[in-house]
Amino acid sequence: NWANMKGNITFNNVSFAYNEGEKVLEKFDLNVKSGETIALVGETGSGKSTIVNLACRFYEPTKGEILIDGVDYRKRSLLWLHSNLGYVLQTPHLFSGTIKENILYGRLGATDEEVIRACKLVNAHNFIMKMKGGYHSQVGEGGGRLSTGEKQLISFARAILADPKIFVLDEATSSVDTETEMLIQKAIEKVLMGRTSFIIAHRLSTIRLADRILVISKGKVVEEGNHYQL
Ligand code: ATP
Ligand code: MG
Repeated sequence: NWANMKGNITFNNVSFAYNEGEKVLEKFDLNVKSGETIALVGETGSGKSTIVNLACRFYEPTKGEILIDGVDYRKRSLLWLHSNLGYVLQTPHLFSGTIKENILYGRLGATDEEVIRACKLVNAHNFIMKMKGGYHSQVGEGGGRLSTGEKQLISFARAILADPKIFVLDEATSSVDTETEMLIQKAIEKVLMGRTSFIIAHRLSTIRLADRILVISKGKVVEEGNHYQL
């Protein structure tokens, strides 16, 4: 049953290498409780994106296991995981098609009202309505005329429409104008509520939203706490 994921994730002794012999994670352990927001911070190349790549099952552990609600995710279908997991990646990807199609990809069969509600929730509705074609505007390969910030807002709408138990955000490092930045900040706050979340955060304002901050260095957790402690 897809509806019954609680969203507890455990990395159990996980080792991982993209290329044989070049371990990025070694015996990595992490337990994230349902509804908890974890922020991953650390220098470039430390392994933050790798951790969320594994959580999303874009890759699987080379050794060890990742449990979701206590069961190795390899024992479940990919569809089960991805029906319960939404993500906004560092370089947001849009498909060639309309804005509406791109958002519907989060949950096929959603009604227009549901699409609009998701967009309003993440503050994407206004800029979409300012475009000549509104929700039917074509966005080219990779999102054509939209800015990175706008593409991210579309990705948030897509993710929230799917109403996932687990949410992953790899925050964009590219510059976004101040107004869009504020909209994104509010979108993040809304999307995190009630979900198990992994956020790779660059902005202090995002880091503050986390229940727990993990400082990653060379594939290991070297410090842990909340933003008051760190
Ligand atoms: P950043 O802050 O720059 O996004 P990161 O903490 O997300 O860095 P990762 O992308 O997880 O770091 O990279 C960890 C290590 O894995 C780095 O040495 C990186 O070069 C390597 N790596 C990442 N992706 C791949 C890949 N697809 N193939 C091979 N090596 C990779
Ligand atoms: Mg990264």
